[in-house]
Amino acid sequence: MSDDTLTRQTAGDLAALLQAREVSSVEVTQAHLDRIDAVDGAVHAFLHVSAEDALATARAVDARRAAGEHLHGLAGVPVAVKDIVVTQGMPTTAGSRILEGWIPPYDATLVARLRAAGLPILGKTNCDEFAMGSSTEHSGYGPTRNPWDLDRIPGGSGGGSAAAVAAYEAPLAIGTDTGGSIRQPAAVTGTVGVKPTYGGVSRYGLIALASSLDQAGPVTRTVLDAALLHEVIGGHDPRDSTSLPEPLPDVVRAAHAGDVRGLRIGVVRQLTGEGYQPGVRASFEAAVALLEEAGAEVVEVSCPSFEYALSAYYLILPAEASSNLARFDGMRFGLRVEPTDGPVTAERVMAATRGAGFGDEVKRRIILGTYALSAGYYDAYYGTAQKVRTLIQRDFAAAFARADVLVSPTAPTTAFRLGEKLDDPMAMYLNDVATIPANLAGIPGLSLPSGLSDDGLPVGFQVLAPARADDRLYLVGSVLEQALLERWGGPVLAAAPELEVAR
Ligand code: GLN
Repeated sequence: MSDDTLTRQTAGDLAALLQAREVSSVEVTQAHLDRIDAVDGAVHAFLHVSAEDALATARAVDARRAAGEHLHGLAGVPVAVKDIVVTQGMPTTAGSRILEGWIPPYDATLVARLRAAGLPILGKTNCDEFAMGSSTEHSGYGPTRNPWDLDRIPGGSGGGSAAAVAAYEAPLAIGTDTGGSIRQPAAVTGTVGVKPTYGGVSRYGLIALASSLDQAGPVTRTVLDAALLHEVIGGHDPRDSTSLPEPLPDVVRAAHAGDVRGLRIGVVRQLTGEGYQPGVRASFEAAVALLEEAGAEVVEVSCPSFEYALSAYYLILPAEASSNLARFDGMRFGLRVEPTDGPVTAERVMAATRGAGFGDEVKRRIILGTYALSAGYYDAYYGTAQKVRTLIQRDFAAAFARADVLVSPTAPTTAFRLGEKLDDPMAMYLNDVATIPANLAGIPGLSLPSGLSDDGLPVGFQVLAPARADDRLYLVGSVLEQALLERWGGPVLAAAPELEVAR
């Protein structure tokens, strides 16, 4: 099979080819490394390509398979990992200059699980600095570009993971989602992204943005692939005190179930309509109609407190981030800058390092967060935001009493142009209106492509389920995906223009 054919396969199909010994993991891994060589100069999805490490894993998997060992189903299928997840012996920057040159001494639990299952790690993907952003333009290493149109953003913060999967540089990728950074990049690149239930995937070894919101999850080209990857990384971890004790629901089986008859699907009134691009709305409504044709019962639900979700998020997130980012002080990790104009005291080294190492968006949020947490303002800002969080959780509880899953567009717009919102933080923040409520409530969410908007760019369809019911995402997602395949005669991503290949 040629390289191009291999990189177009789904992870599930690659796994089957590997199991049947029709291809080796070295061939599959090399095909993706070649593809990265050919297109990543234009896309810039990767901050670091770990070719040797990936090929070493591939060789080991091939040898074990040849020896007749029983391997994990995905063994030998390569994966890309967002650069905010620590990887032993492999640079990890969180998209920040302050961590330039830092090589972590340990693996995140999810990385250890990828390695244990035998997935070669292709490299580390670009992201907004410390995962703050919706476009990857806040990366300290330059933006990633959207494979659909290189002048457009791939979403953020996990634009690198989504672009890598959309550009066929990786069949699987890991993202993290604090307010939408898996789902919104998936939406604007025509890929599938899942934010699991909070506590469903270990946070041990994720560089923390906002600890009460962060959650890692899969980015893929099909719903089944997302379930397969979710199964590898999910489940209890004693190293994460917020890890759920119970086993992950059977997400892989749910992705095969194929029957939504009688399932109640709630359209969230506050997450459609005004502020949503007409082409996004049209694609969303058409997808809801397909689910209805498949036998689901569609109801409208109202979540009035969602109006305050963005405001609450932009108090809670900066508050937690300002405290989490205090550890980057020039003493422990990465960059260290000594002041040139006066005495070299610990405090002045910290100030100089943080001044030089953090970008504008990070500084903006640290200032916001320390202000919101300061004595005298704590109750008025942080305390009030936490109360709003409770109201949002109650809205979800009421909605889930009337519907088994909730649906909305994933993002209000398709991919915007690079630079378009860079000087307008509020406009950038607004791109996450539909994804943030799930993080505030800790519930799981999935985004899959529902088609194209009238501008020819992909639209994301979001499915939300109650906490711990991640399997429902895969059930609804796979049924809709199948109906769309029939309607379109192929996957939405197939409509993306071919990238020019450097050879
Ligand atoms: N775009 C949102 C933010 O800037 C979400 C980020 C994320 O999920 N990491 O905070």
